[in-house]
Amino acid sequence: MAKVLYHNDIQEEVLKSKKIAIIGYGSQGHAHALNLKESGFDVVVGLRKGKSWDKAVEDGVEVKSVADATKASDVVMVLLPDEYQPTIYKESIEPHLEAGNALVFAHGFNVHFNQVVPPADVDVFLVAPKGPGHLVRRTFEEGAGVPALYGIYQDYTGKATETALAYAKGIGAGRAGILQTSFQEETETDLFGEQAVLCGGVTSLVKAGFETLTEAGYQPEVAYFECLHELKLIVDLMYEGGLEGMRYSISDTAQWGDYVSGPRVVNEETKARMKDVLTDIQTGVFAKGWILENQVNRPQFNAITASESKHQIEKVGKELRALMPFVNQKAKAKKEVVSN
Ligand code: NDP
Ligand code: MG
Ligand code: MG
Repeated sequence: MAKVLYHNDIQEEVLKSKKIAIIGYGSQGHAHALNLKESGFDVVVGLRKGKSWDKAVEDGVEVKSVADATKASDVVMVLLPDEYQPTIYKESIEPHLEAGNALVFAHGFNVHFNQVVPPADVDVFLVAPKGPGHLVRRTFEEGAGVPALYGIYQDYTGKATETALAYAKGIGAGRAGILQTSFQEETETDLFGEQAVLCGGVTSLVKAGFETLTEAGYQPEVAYFECLHELKLIVDLMYEGGLEGMRYSISDTAQWGDYVSGPRVVNEETKARMKDVLTDIQTGVFAKGWILENQVNRPQFNAITASESKHQIEKVGKELRALMPFVNQKAKAKKEVVSN
């Protein structure tokens, strides 16, 4: 088994004497800033004036412009949306980095695909929590944590690993487990997971099941419950006990159907398509398409978002969820369901 590090395995002194800039105060940013501060580190948040700025001030954290926060700090964690990182980095971060500083990311995309090219005289590493930012904060407050990956891209000072681990501990990840990775592995597995399984795979499976039932004349409401609503219960069981734990809880009929019909739906051909998806990620084809899509203001992204919102499963789902207040109350900010 890969080596997993915990709270007591990690020394944090290396980071105690440093000033840490958290650039961005969204899902991940607010969690990192507050957790690090409460772990006893010196934190400043870098932002533009606006919603996040006001929230950070309200939360009692020191806030400066991105440029000033970078200037004031030794460790700069970039928690801006991935699509905007290259521009903001070029304009407001890079000019203020000094030799021996650390440039940190929570996702390897921009460095791995050369959208951000760091100078040679800084440490570059990633600390990537394997959970949404709101959970990174909530679990920390509860005395627990979200697991994290760390990876070193560039070790200028010879202290990059020590610093990365201290940072991961500071956000509470040591309570759940810290695992080493590389920028390449983190980026490629993260993109593959969200495309083939967690987001793309699941939404396509759910829609195909819903359409199969409604096209056969079954009521859309019944199809919604069966193909979407119940998914949560099954996923919770898998989360707790793996596939075996889930299969223990379902009926034997469901388990037999799982064995005989699952491989008819997701088969060798599906796996071959998954391999194509992985190849596009590894060769940079996916990254290039997404970068270009952003450069031309997302025409396809917006068109697909609009047409997806008109799908019958969304319409019937909205009506049914309105009648299930417990589901609505629990509905979290959209951000919470981001996969990585
Ligand atoms: P969010 O979209 O939640 O937050 C972005 C923040 O950046 C906001 O505070 C926003 O402030 C600020 N911002 C946007 N544009 C600018 C600008 N021009 N100048 C200054 N500040 C700006 O991002 P996430 O937390 O989702 O993602 C951050 C990083 O973490 C990404 O690399 C992502 O891949 C990674 N990650 C995210 C996870 C998640 O759970 N969401 C999980 C693991 C990693 P404003 O209010 O002014 O717009
Ligand atoms: Mg059933
Ligand atoms: Mg992701």
